[in-house]
Amino acid sequence: MATEIPFRRDIDIDYGAVATLTPLIRRVVARNPSPFTFKGTGTYIVGHGQVAVIDPGPDIAAHIDALLAALGAETVTHILITHTHLDHSPAAAAIKQATGAKTYGFGPHGSGRAEDRSGVGGVTEEGGDHAFTPDIVMRDGDAVEGPGWRLAAVHTPGHTSNHLCFALPEEHTLFSGDHVMGWSTSVIAPPDGDMAAYMRSLDKLLGRDDRVYWPTHGPSIPDPKPFVRAFIAHRHERAQAILDRLAQGDEAIPAIVARVYVGLDPRLKGAAARSVLAHLVELVESGTVACEGPPTLDARYRLKR
Ligand SMILES: [Zn+2]
Repeated sequence: MATEIPFRRDIDIDYGAVATLTPLIRRVVARNPSPFTFKGTGTYIVGHGQVAVIDPGPDIAAHIDALLAALGAETVTHILITHTHLDHSPAAAAIKQATGAKTYGFGPHGSGRAEDRSGVGGVTEEGGDHAFTPDIVMRDGDAVEGPGWRLAAVHTPGHTSNHLCFALPEEHTLFSGDHVMGWSTSVIAPPDGDMAAYMRSLDKLLGRDDRVYWPTHGPSIPDPKPFVRAFIAHRHERAQAILDRLAQGDEAIPAIVARVYVGLDPRLKGAAARSVLAHLVELVESGTVACEGPPTLDARYRLKR
């Protein structure tokens, strides 16, 4: 039986307004709703007086204005970036210019990638913010702090190779970016997305004791470990479904997508194809599946005997 992930999609957003979520956390949501961003990008403000901003968001003037209005006379000491997708990092430039704060992140888009094992190649990936480079590089365990708060980086590659979550120990909270979201699974799209890395990064969260996650899109995730376990089970089931299709004689990704993602929103077809590719890259590497040449969206696949 398929694992049910307990998604929550029942949230109302007041675009342009700042919402107080916890004693230390506030959020302004950008008006960029889509099948990939749910209601939009949530930009977090952590602390009071001297604050950090996490994921300034897309380059939308109304969002930048709303964020600066929410900050008022407070001082931004750090601008933290979970990863370099266009709905997360582009507004960092404007917030930096307005506040003088430095930007912090793992590195430019693609910087966490050891090599392109997918054969997709290139830096042409839609959705990547290739203009962003952090002023200060953060690695796993690196932390920044202000009065009453501390934010520690947790490197969680998979959705992108440079993805960081940020732990706020004062509230036993993890800002989980797009690694773990409350409303949907994450898109794992090669070449920068990596299924094996994503699964390791889910396991990594199971070794932590955060009590609540605040993702960049959607509602908070209380009691996150069962949620993370459901994601892991879901991916194992999807890998098995792909193997079943190969066993039935399907060889091409579009045919597999049509059978495995029944009832899919047509706007998500491309993302689904890349997710299947991400699984196939892993299955080719592990020696379960064969492919002539590098695994790409157009390649033909078969089960190894
Ligand atoms: Zn993303």
